[in-house]
Amino acid sequence: MTASAHHIVCTACGAVNRVPIGKALDQGHCGSCKAVLAGKAPVDVDEKVLNRLLARDEGCFLLDVWAPWCGPCRMMAPSFEEAASHFAGNLRFLKLNSEAHPNAAARLQVRGIPALFLFQAGRVIDQRSGVMTAPMLTQWIESVNILTPTA
Ligand code: ZN
Repeated sequence: MTASAHHIVCTACGAVNRVPIGKALDQGHCGSCKAVLAGKAPVDVDEKVLNRLLARDEGCFLLDVWAPWCGPCRMMAPSFEEAASHFAGNLRFLKLNSEAHPNAAARLQVRGIPALFLFQAGRVIDQRSGVMTAPMLTQWIESVNILTPTA
């Protein structure tokens, strides 16, 4: 077995892509739907894509669980976008609408929103709740140190 590539789930269509480790995801496109594997803007995921990510993805991503009725969630959205732009290509920023996808939110045992989950290889490695500014997000992500290439 070689560790020179890992599986990255396309956040647009849920297809599993084989990507060389160390290659920036913003340089790669999904073999199925041609979407960029990591853009500069947050991507909305539904329950189906999230389940694929949890089951098959071997990379890292940050998930923001929010809802349209949640004022603090809407307040944090620009900060989330700013941090996504900062980490483009290194960390995928995903959003889950907990009102539209309550089963997915329940699976993550979300109690209050906004709730933020850092995932690596399908496992939650750290989480936060409440509004965070872009500098707070950046500092948190860098402190977790998940972005160092492993091979
Ligand atoms: Zn795709």
